[in-house]
Amino acid sequence: MARALIPGSGLQVSLAVTTHAAREARERHGLKPASAALLAQGLTGGVLLASLQKGEARINLQLQCDGPFSGLFVDAGAAGDVRGYARNPGLEVELGEGAFRWRAALGNAGLLSVLRELGTEYYRSSVELVAMDLAQDLNHYFETSDQVPTRVALDQRRDGEEGLGLVAGVLVQALPEGDVQALERLGTTLAERLGAAVQGGGAATARELLAAVLPQAAFTHEYPVAFRCSCSRERVLRTLASLGRAELQEIVDTLGSTAVTCQFCAARHEVTLPDLLALIDQLGGGHLRS
Ligand SMILES: [Zn+2]
Repeated sequence: MARALIPGSGLQVSLAVTTHAAREARERHGLKPASAALLAQGLTGGVLLASLQKGEARINLQLQCDGPFSGLFVDAGAAGDVRGYARNPGLEVELGEGAFRWRAALGNAGLLSVLRELGTEYYRSSVELVAMDLAQDLNHYFETSDQVPTRVALDQRRDGEEGLGLVAGVLVQALPEGDVQALERLGTTLAERLGAAVQGGGAATARELLAAVLPQAAFTHEYPVAFRCSCSRERVLRTLASLGRAELQEIVDTLGSTAVTCQFCAARHEVTLPDLLALIDQLGGGHLRS
């Protein structure tokens, strides 16, 4: 993730290369090419939105649609960590080219929701999908619900057999007092510029792409983006404990042990019979077991 400012116009820029995160998501979830390409877009949108957050604050990006892809869920932090999943991991449709390239997967209607953490509160807003294209629908989201003038572009390149050759996205947002007209002018060519830089093949890192897409931008700092999940066995045990004694006893009596697969990263956390009995014990009141 490369961050920058455009001198004299009060615009901030985030440019992310998410190739590795997108490939890791594909591997973890066993995604077919179309699902991998769409989740790559979602992960990129997620890290771009999260780059606007402060400190530890997170964002969730959710897409639901009536096409065979069904939707995606992405959780991203301001530190560059991102995780997510596709509702249909096995989509194999041909995505084609041009403005309607995602329609075969996304269908004709749906909803884009963004949950933002601000301090101790959460703000959620949803917009209907209008373009059936994540970048354009994110622009629509910023126009209608967020109301901070912002433009987003996403692009990805295939390298032979590697469908996720290079995955990148750019977001430009007006700071308070920023030049909104300058942003609008820039917005009309942003997707084209990103597309040329990504498809052209010369630039590979976020900084190189930034220089190619927005040569007038002054680089401020960068940080790594990685697929990372916060799940752990301890968290799984805490979640199980929250089910209560009766429910846990039911698991002991019917299954003896269990395993919880994390929806975000597909990690499988084994919970053994001694784990379950220890949880029941911790919840107090003695064993229910006959
Ligand atoms: Zn996980």
